[in-house]
Amino acid sequence: MFNSIKRRGLMLVLSSPSGAGKSTLARLLLNDTGLKLSLSISVTTRPRRASEIEGVHYHFISVREFERLRDSDALIEWAEVHGNFYGTPREAAENALADGRDMLFDIDWQGALQLQEKMKGDIVSIFILPPSMAHLKQRLHRRAEDTEEVIDMRLRNARNEIERWRSYDYVVVNEDLDEAFHQVQSIVTAERLRRDRCPGLFDFVSGLLEEKL
Ligand code: 5GP
Repeated sequence: MFNSIKRRGLMLVLSSPSGAGKSTLARLLLNDTGLKLSLSISVTTRPRRASEIEGVHYHFISVREFERLRDSDALIEWAEVHGNFYGTPREAAENALADGRDMLFDIDWQGALQLQEKMKGDIVSIFILPPSMAHLKQRLHRRAEDTEEVIDMRLRNARNEIERWRSYDYVVVNEDLDEAFHQVQSIVTAERLRRDRCPGLFDFVSGLLEEKL
């Protein structure tokens, strides 16, 4: 069966400046049962927001615990973002890849660069852009989960983040959420069909050619 051809999992990296709608897109992708994506749950030293659940959105840990994980090589990448530390646990990501399960990584450009270096052929990276800076500002205010001070810092950082757009494989402008979601779905579908991602194709094609009619 073509659908059972074995392949390595892919690492779908989504990055964007805060407020570009990346988390909403990530949620839609994870809820799409047809896509069968699971989320890499990062560790962070940032305080938990009221809407967040430990172990679902992040593992919220102390700086001391973060340093312990980082120094014992338990993080596949890590970065300081908006004054807090964030990192991707290595074991869950490597297990998913080896089992052929695809994982979503909601990480910043620094993390994306590290993964691109370390996991070359396994990464598909998408940068989400807002249609305008005014949209970004509105979305950050509408979310109303951060203080004014934090929102201001995130807006200042947005320009630096946007400048990193060239290091991504794909760029999606999130003006219309449905359309942006459809574009990301299409990227995942196409990337899954890449020949170099399916070592099992060799046997499948050999079987086709040997089939007696
Ligand atoms: P937030 O505090 O809004 O949840 O996330 C802030 C930024 O940190 C976002 O751009 C998010 O993608 C990024 N981030 C979340 N987890 C990780 C991680 O494990 N590694 C890196 N490098 N960035 C992360």
